Amino acid sequence: MRKEFTISSRGTNILASPIEYLKGVGPQRAELLQKELGIFTFKDLLEHFPYRHIDRTKVSLIREINPGTDFIQIAGRITSVGIMGEKRAKRLVAEIRDSSGILELTWFQGITWIEKMLSIGSTYRVFGKVSFFQGSAQMTHPEIEPVTEEANTGRNFLEPVYSTTEKLKARGLGARQIAKLTQSLFMHLSEKELPENLPDYVLQPLQLVPRYRALSHIHFPPSTEAWEQAMNRLKFEEFFIAQLRMHLVKAKRHRYSRGVVFGQVGDIFNTFYEKYLPFELTGAQKRVIKEIRKDTGSGKQMNRLLQGDVGSGKTIVALLVMLLAADNGYQSCLMAPTEILARQHFAGLTRLLKDLPVNIRILTGTTKAAERRAILKGLEQGEVQLLVGTHAVIEDTVQFKNLGIAIVDEQHRFGVAQRAKLWAKAAIPPHMLVMTATPIPRTLAMTAYGDLDYSVMDELPPNRKPILTVHRYETARSQVMGFIKAEIEKGRQAYIVFPLIEESEKLDYENLMKGYENVKAYFPEPKYWMSMVHGRQTTDIRETNMQRFKNHDTHIMVATTVIEVGVDVPNASVMVIENAEKFGLSQLHQLRGRVGRGAEKSFCILLTSSKLNNDATERLKTMCETTDGFKVAEKDLELRGPGDIEGTRQSGVLNFKLANILADRQWLEAAREVAEKIAENDPDLSSAENLRLKEYLQSLQGKTAWSKIS
Ligand code: ADP
Ligand code: MG
Repeated sequence: MRKEFTISSRGTNILASPIEYLKGVGPQRAELLQKELGIFTFKDLLEHFPYRHIDRTKVSLIREINPGTDFIQIAGRITSVGIMGEKRAKRLVAEIRDSSGILELTWFQGITWIEKMLSIGSTYRVFGKVSFFQGSAQMTHPEIEPVTEEANTGRNFLEPVYSTTEKLKARGLGARQIAKLTQSLFMHLSEKELPENLPDYVLQPLQLVPRYRALSHIHFPPSTEAWEQAMNRLKFEEFFIAQLRMHLVKAKRHRYSRGVVFGQVGDIFNTFYEKYLPFELTGAQKRVIKEIRKDTGSGKQMNRLLQGDVGSGKTIVALLVMLLAADNGYQSCLMAPTEILARQHFAGLTRLLKDLPVNIRILTGTTKAAERRAILKGLEQGEVQLLVGTHAVIEDTVQFKNLGIAIVDEQHRFGVAQRAKLWAKAAIPPHMLVMTATPIPRTLAMTAYGDLDYSVMDELPPNRKPILTVHRYETARSQVMGFIKAEIEKGRQAYIVFPLIEESEKLDYENLMKGYENVKAYFPEPKYWMSMVHGRQTTDIRETNMQRFKNHDTHIMVATTVIEVGVDVPNASVMVIENAEKFGLSQLHQLRGRVGRGAEKSFCILLTSSKLNNDATERLKTMCETTDGFKVAEKDLELRGPGDIEGTRQSGVLNFKLANILADRQWLEAAREVAEKIAENDPDLSSAENLRLKEYLQSLQGKTAWSKIS
């Protein structure tokens, strides 16, 4: 993937120069640098930051070397030099002696040159990595230089160490050579090439050092403190620029975007609310609906993320919003990530709307051709008011007469591009409501979704008993099965879930079948009935099996993770997760959310083998300790790191070079605060004090695709 060079209006930007033109690189090494490290330009090299520094002012004694020694610097007199071995084993061996001992130095390459440089009796400074050969310490290919007055001045105190690869090393581009290249890069750079990009009023209160100094000190710090200051400055900058861009996008959208207006609450909404709503809304549901009503009535396009833990009741919110659209003469659609979920939504909504004059249809990949044609026509003519569906909804052939709002359920299954497609289905972009049950820690949300408006439903419907979660080993299987029996006695139902190990569908299937037979041995027909659903079944069969469990025709549902998202059977009170150690935290939490939906006390049993690694142990412990989705998400973030959180992986917004959204939270907060204020007060960055920012952002433009929606 070749990046584009920016040519600034002031002429060729030195930082955009291809890396091959840097002294000491050339075409061949350039190609390797590109392939191995993604370094295409001077700028890329500048941003190839060292991962640590070595203190070269420190000279150790040979006696201090021990098996734990890594890189070390010593100084002493050379006492012998000689060539040993032949052909491939040919090497130069020298001995260096200080007041405390003797160390052997070995070179396999550059022998002639080094031999010439070494003179017995003279003093040298040696730096390198210690290795042990047959119990005695030695250094292979150390750096060595004569100790002279000159060599003692002007050296860097802390030497940068860069990541590199075997291939690069083989071509003479080890960590030290990269340091040399970087050094020669800085010969071309001054404050002119790396001008300050943050306003003074941002820098001063936070005591951030200037940009040029930071970039130079991150590579070649004169002291540890200087390096720390450079790090702080650059971490802040990373967070800040990302946040600012997002907040500017958001501010722009708020100012300029046109949105369809849902100006009134009409008959459909009111009748439903008064006559057919099966329960009192929770405070959180009411609040979110109010937020959405305000947004959709404003004449601006709404782009909102709705986060609500599993079971918090997002579906009814979606329905009410769709009815609001219908009252205002607009169509709406609700997209679900799986066919099962789409069908479940459709069935549930149809039931709720059965006495209301609302035309609701479902469109999925399995919709028959004739029916599909009829639905497409109905959509184009505006007869179909509510459309429920899967990915099928975003196909190009699906055209609406006047789509007013698109709701995406369980967003982490949808990519950015897919959402953008939905967005493009009307002249005035429809409102977007993205619903997710994957609780995202606040830190992450404000980084990844900073450009969306954001609602949280932090309240579960009343009368929910908390779910008791326990961890049991495989060896306790029969007790667990006994427990399920007791629950079934009480009229309850149970799920037993098996993991999917994506690499082998066949193995998964066999694993599931074995599991099924195993469970069945405990629960013989006709006293007990079981359903099974998995990805290999046709939709019809899967649907029938789901339905049987829902209707309480069966007691136990054995399933793979196809039931992960959104399945709603309030009478189910036990969730057994087999091989629970193989699941991620957020998945475990999602699965657990399938129970505890009715008024009965519910249980989640995590079955595992007895061999558990530390991470798995932590995950299980977290699950047993809390049912709070946000706490689970925090732990997940801590254990897996931000790059792995579902739905954010491709977005790239969390891939910071230096900053870490967990460890550097305080910088993230600071950056967000400032960015928000700027976007609010000067969204065009037209004030003089924000000129630097404006120019900098313009210089970045075109380099990163920046989509209009999250
Ligand atoms: P999720 O947010 O996970 O999508 P659902 O919308 O599926 O949650 O709702 C979970 C269950 O809670 C459903 O059975 C739903 O009917 C019920 N429910 C939703 N809101 C309320 C409420 N305010 N009071 C009582 N039950 C509710
Ligand atoms: Mg749901």
